[in-house]
Amino acid sequence: MLVIDSHCHLNDDSLFLKRKQLIEEAYKDDVKIIICPSDSYKSSLRALLIAGEFENVYYAVGIHPSEVKNTTEEEYNDVKKIKSKKLVAIGEIGLDFYWEKDEKQRKLQIEAFKDQIRHANELKLPIIVHSRDAINETLKVLREVKPLYGGVMHCYSGPKEMVKDFIDLGLYISFGGPLTFTNAKTPKEACLATPLDRLLVETDSPYLSPHPFRGKENSPKQVRLVLKALANIKDISEEEAARITSENAARLFHVKTNL
Ligand SMILES: [Zn+2]
Repeated sequence: MLVIDSHCHLNDDSLFLKRKQLIEEAYKDDVKIIICPSDSYKSSLRALLIAGEFENVYYAVGIHPSEVKNTTEEEYNDVKKIKSKKLVAIGEIGLDFYWEKDEKQRKLQIEAFKDQIRHANELKLPIIVHSRDAINETLKVLREVKPLYGGVMHCYSGPKEMVKDFIDLGLYISFGGPLTFTNAKTPKEACLATPLDRLLVETDSPYLSPHPFRGKENSPKQVRLVLKALANIKDISEEEAARITSENAARLFHVKTNL
């Protein structure tokens, strides 16, 4: 079986030093490919490094909306120069209005989001979208500056009614730990509303540990618990869910799955 963790911050301070162990443990549990997104200049450099070290890790570079205000112009431009054969996307980029209440700062997030979508289009790469408390604004930006090479709504937390809007823009819908929470109605409904050929699974490690590890540090092998929840919701076997979500991730990110 092959499972892909489509979103795992191996470059995060809490995981970086134990990355080898985490990647090996995940591999033993059939989580054989990991996509490592970035959120800052520093984490983008680390992602490049990790993908160079491990054959089964691919990466994305980008400035997370919450990091936009902490990034110098020089760093912002330098992130765009980071590339290698294993760069598979630009992200995570998007809007986070949960942590940002200031209107001026929100406008800066929107500008950086648009600019990074254009950059992805120039590089012919998909985007990894972070959206928190800003689902309508996110859709508005994506309609204005269309991602030409697809992308993914990472850890989708929007309503089921909007799934189709994102799919119509060529995006995939990815689910993480919240899908396993007993009281999580919204992600379960959104998962039901997503066609099988547009579903991805992720951990968002070190965050969002699935049930029963909620609140603890997450790791890529735990994507198996998300996969299990997804299989249950879609009423398919885990093997089928693994095959479908891996094919989807491989199609979106253009990664080889013959590992
Ligand atoms: Zn993330």
